[in-house]
Amino acid sequence: MPSIGLHLAVTLFFLASCLKDDDLKPALVLLPFGLLSDLDSFIGVHRATLHNLFIIFVPLLIMIALKRLKVSTIKDRYFIFASLLLAAHIFLDAFYNGVFLFYPFIEKSYNPLFWFGLTETGLSALFTWVVPGNVGELVYVITPCPSVPEIPIISSGIELVILIFALLTFFLKFRVKLSKGLHA
Ligand SMILES: [Zn+2]
Repeated sequence: MPSIGLHLAVTLFFLASCLKDDDLKPALVLLPFGLLSDLDSFIGVHRATLHNLFIIFVPLLIMIALKRLKVSTIKDRYFIFASLLLAAHIFLDAFYNGVFLFYPFIEKSYNPLFWFGLTETGLSALFTWVVPGNVGELVYVITPCPSVPEIPIISSGIELVILIFALLTFFLKFRVKLSKGLHA
């Protein structure tokens, strides 16, 4: 599965490319949205409770609710970015052994790699379109269950390099705000 470091790197790249130079505070508030899906390895069912399609819409629903109540001073785009970060996490995980995209309604794991025929099983899976779980040892992906392997912080040298570049991109993007913060 993707390490915490890889999710962090994707999140940092996303924030650096979508936000404005002086949006450091929103960037720091949005940062956890790229990672928080993995909290379901502690609460609920991993790759299911916080890794489904419905979770992606939560920030948007909050946005609509706050608008109705006319209490929101937060810009719409930040809610949309929060949703996109949740979606990016789930999408990335889906390529690593699959996620329970329609949990709790359908207890099936979806892995796009099978559909693209990138794995041996995928070639035959193309005909069925929906593949229950993964082949091999990762049983938890086939049946949603709370016991899961530990999520690595960093799982390879390539991921470490990607993370370093992501951190660099993030700091360069918000360097003006960051240096102001240090000297204030
Ligand atoms: Zn995850």
